[in-house]
Amino acid sequence: MFDLTGKGAIVTGGNTGIGQGIAVGLAKAGADVALVARSDASETARMVTDLGRRCTVIEADLSTIEPCERIVSEALDALGTLDILVNNAGIIRRNDALDFTEEDWDAVVDTNLKTLFFLSQAAGRHLAKNGGGSIINIASMLTFQGGIRVASYTASKSGVGGLTKLLANEWAAKGITVNAIAPGYIATNNTAALQADETRNRQILERIPAGRWGEPADLAGAAVFLASDAARYVQGHILAVDGGWLAR
Ligand code: NAP
Repeated sequence: MFDLTGKGAIVTGGNTGIGQGIAVGLAKAGADVALVARSDASETARMVTDLGRRCTVIEADLSTIEPCERIVSEALDALGTLDILVNNAGIIRRNDALDFTEEDWDAVVDTNLKTLFFLSQAAGRHLAKNGGGSIINIASMLTFQGGIRVASYTASKSGVGGLTKLLANEWAAKGITVNAIAPGYIATNNTAALQADETRNRQILERIPAGRWGEPADLAGAAVFLASDAARYVQGHILAVDGGWLAR
């Protein structure tokens, strides 16, 4: 039920962090993987091929929607099939709301929300023609909460939650499942500054019932589930993988 053998998956931002953890998890479950990255993704590629799966790296800058169609066609050429899209790539900018700039707004919303939609559209057109598949969006605790000093990130991740439900509504009947994973506090480049700040690190750890930061590999099980037949009737769901953060 959880076997992904013979399936092809695109993972954006697959060179590092959560994208790497999910790419390796999908490969362990049997999927071949196309990593979309703007930086060197050879480490993840090696981890996937060491598992005996095929891996291709598609170079792309996801700050604009320009590469979306190409990503889908290159993944299809390399893997021969496309069944899973994981929209993971994302950025964050921090500033007080009173000082927040248009540049910091556009950069985050374009990458985290606009490209996520248009890459889903490009993949969705293929999946709809080919009997279905799975789209998994990476949301955030700030899909549910407001956060502080991260206006464009909160707007983008709240938008990811809404789009996940909209796409599920439109595409469920086409055999496409659309769901999201909302990671809690995960130790990656994205949170390096928070981990390094002694006070914030202590405050965060005190609030996590599991008592530790998450690791990228902690997200793999949820991704395999949502990509697999086990989740074929799961639609528009936002699955928190947060060590209990939201339960507090
Ligand atoms: P990360 O290590 O900084 O990874 C972000 C990934 O997105 C990197 O591969 C990065 O590429 C890629 N990316 C960003 N902008 C891109 C662009 N314009 N073109 C191509 N790739 C781009 O952080 P992470 O924590 O793994 O983040 C992955 C996702 O999880 C993000 O959507 C983030 O918002 C979300 N998330 C993270 C946490 C957490 O606690 N870590 C919590 C909730 C949600 P480069 O390496 O080249 O920069």
